[in-house]
Amino acid sequence: MRIDKRRLEQSIEELGRIGQTPRGGLTRLALSDEDKRGRDWMVSRMREAGLAVTVDQMGNIFGRRAGDSALPPVMMGSHVDSVPTGGRYDGQLGVLCGLEVIRSLDDAKIRTRHPVTLAIFTNEEGARFQPAMIASGVMAGKIALEDAYNTRDKDGIRLVDELERIGYLGAEPCVARPFRAYLELHIEQGPFLEEEGLSVGVVEGIVAIAWSRLTIHGVQDHAGPTPMRIRHDALVAAAEVVGGVRRIAREMGGDLVTTVGNLVVAPNIVNAIPGRITLSIDMRDPQDATLDRARAKLEAIVREACEREGVPYELEHYWRVPYTPFDRDVVDTVERAARAAGARYRRIRSGAGHDAQYMAAIGPAGMVFVPSRDGRSHCEEEFTPIDDIEQGATTLLRAALDLAGRA
Ligand SMILES: [Zn+2]
Repeated sequence: MRIDKRRLEQSIEELGRIGQTPRGGLTRLALSDEDKRGRDWMVSRMREAGLAVTVDQMGNIFGRRAGDSALPPVMMGSHVDSVPTGGRYDGQLGVLCGLEVIRSLDDAKIRTRHPVTLAIFTNEEGARFQPAMIASGVMAGKIALEDAYNTRDKDGIRLVDELERIGYLGAEPCVARPFRAYLELHIEQGPFLEEEGLSVGVVEGIVAIAWSRLTIHGVQDHAGPTPMRIRHDALVAAAEVVGGVRRIAREMGGDLVTTVGNLVVAPNIVNAIPGRITLSIDMRDPQDATLDRARAKLEAIVREACEREGVPYELEHYWRVPYTPFDRDVVDTVERAARAAGARYRRIRSGAGHDAQYMAAIGPAGMVFVPSRDGRSHCEEEFTPIDDIEQGATTLLRAALDLAGRA
């Protein structure tokens, strides 16, 4: 059993044209006109493949291939939204390989006991509406539907209004639905598979993630007449925090990664002492306990930096996801499938969040990784060789068939 590499390559090319950037990347923000066109293209392909397509209250799309209707489906899914000037593999590959699996089952005239469902989740990236993975979060009961609906983008537009505008405000309740297993193929977004010359990662789980927001209140003043001894500069304190956040990971070592990715300076002009700073802190590790220790270090660094500069601050720890282990049987099934597909593979952990994380909270889930060239993603240079994609998609096919069972 193998998938059709040429056909899959062609789908990647076709979907990749919707929202394509001049340099071959992708800008298809959630619920934008491009997202609507990407969704429409997918729905047409799903209907052509004979799937029964439904849309839920969060705009999640499900296409079901028939099996024994009394049995829960094997679900394969990912997302078709992207970050601004992102790549054409993140998310896209998961839904296109899922589609290719269904087409391959049809080609081989295989009927399965469990139905097989292809799922496309809304706003996985969180680039337009926060938080990320909002729609699988609602489905898993972790985010209230009303809160998700009222989330606004930077222009103040509500998520629910955009769902309605693009015609994807569905009627099906967005609630936990039973599934035999959830499988998500995704690019690794890190360097390990490529460094080791491997085609497939059998994903064991997703690291724990903690997000914090720091606001520092300095005293805004003129950059000329204000002597150094009376200054309270918010950016000077922030600079110490940025260095300190890097130091946390260096000192604690292991798999811990720490990032300050967003810094907003007010008033952000040449001749004024910065009066107010907000900055983000993102920390990730496979061990929840490590994140607890990292958080304690962060609090000490912030306190000391702000005391030294004499500036008050607020530090909020506003989002935390624990380590998500995937279902042992599903992981073993994926590993068997990778071996049977003849793929060079290893077990691996995901450093990025995925819809599979929320799906794992409501049923048995697992993931298949394929390599990212130079480990890069969320950029136009994002690339995975088609031969690796073929190995990954064949692994997905074999795992899905194993879990769904032949009728
Ligand atoms: Zn993704």
